[in-house]
Amino acid sequence: HTNFDVQNIRKDFPILSRKVNGQPLIYFDNAATSQTPQAVIDAIVDYYSNYNANIHRGVHALSQEATDAYEEARIKIQKHFNAAKSYEIILTAGTTHAINLIANGYSALLQKGDEVLVSALEHHSNIVPWQMLCERTGAILKVIPMTQSGELDMDAFAKAVSDKLKLVFVNHVSNALGTVNPIEHIIAEAHKVGAAVVIDGAQATPHIKPDVQALDADFYVASAHKICGPTGVGILYGKEALLEKLPPYQGGGEMIDQVTFEKTTYAGLPHKFEAGTPNICGGIATGVGLDYMNAIGFDVIAAYEEELLQYATEKLLKIEGLKIYGESSKKTAVVSFNVGAIHPYDIGTILDKLGIAVRTGHHCAQPIMDYFKIPGTVRASFSFYNTKEEIDIFIKGVERAVMMLS
Ligand code: PMP
Repeated sequence: HTNFDVQNIRKDFPILSRKVNGQPLIYFDNAATSQTPQAVIDAIVDYYSNYNANIHRGVHALSQEATDAYEEARIKIQKHFNAAKSYEIILTAGTTHAINLIANGYSALLQKGDEVLVSALEHHSNIVPWQMLCERTGAILKVIPMTQSGELDMDAFAKAVSDKLKLVFVNHVSNALGTVNPIEHIIAEAHKVGAAVVIDGAQATPHIKPDVQALDADFYVASAHKICGPTGVGILYGKEALLEKLPPYQGGGEMIDQVTFEKTTYAGLPHKFEAGTPNICGGIATGVGLDYMNAIGFDVIAAYEEELLQYATEKLLKIEGLKIYGESSKKTAVVSFNVGAIHPYDIGTILDKLGIAVRTGHHCAQPIMDYFKIPGTVRASFSFYNTKEEIDIFIKGVERAVMMLS
């Protein structure tokens, strides 16, 4: 149905031809980080081989080349997310850094008794910075509860929306379960009471091309390392008016207009939030990673990954005693499961011996595990470079682990 050729795609990822524990690597930990295509590796080598220089300040040729490439990457990111302005894209060190930047800024904008709302499906990095914000300001943290199917309880959400509500933070896709949350609805409802919404897109962006204007998202954050880019780069989209209101996070070079000991004035967007020498090479490589994925096409990626998800889900459910957590009909390619009372770590260890990389544990989302009263899950997460043949080997591995452990 598509001319998607996974074997050709796999050739772009050198790591996929290595062995682990004597077996060909099967990498099913894509929700933790994606693998890196040769084009991105080449861009990193090219930067350090040919035009490594500090940006924005130099008059010399290398600095100009590096600045141009970095700012070109910002424009690629702007286009990918469909932001209205390139300066609404702030480059950070990651999703975690981006969320802390926003939470820190809101210290100056929230008052005691204001309410903020977090979803029960969040990664710790979209919980803890807001708890710290509430401690600083006296704002009250409320939770949108979840249901047995691993979805948000939208009736409870409706009840939690009031005139006191100032901020909502929710992920677009849950990293632990794969659930796609109804963020369009959440954003629309929050806006009715004048609350701003921060969307954690770290787990959505590998599968979905977000349109921040169509969503009317106030903030949308993501990590480059999940979208074929390098670690240490984050993307923060914010509406211009909100970014203007937010005070800077860190002080330093690059983020100033004029510095005197009496008073410093800050640079405009995006530099106000980009103190210090950024991850220049990483930013450039992030743009190359997005180019790579866009050349395949996010519709093609999503359709293929959905096929892998259905295939794996069907086969896994044939294993006796196996329970999948997160049964929403709107899911990305993540299967989180346990088999009977077997500890997820034990299954993960046996799979590793077979060269199969999965994640085990709480996936930085302890409240979800507490809700299901489990210590954690085995999580297999698929990417467009995975295959059904790999899933077959993985299923055999799980069956073997279950036999050994029960
Ligand atoms: N939120 C979600 C939903 C995630 O999946 C992750 C990464 N696992 C993060 C936030 C944190 O991202 P990072 O570690 O890249 O800052």
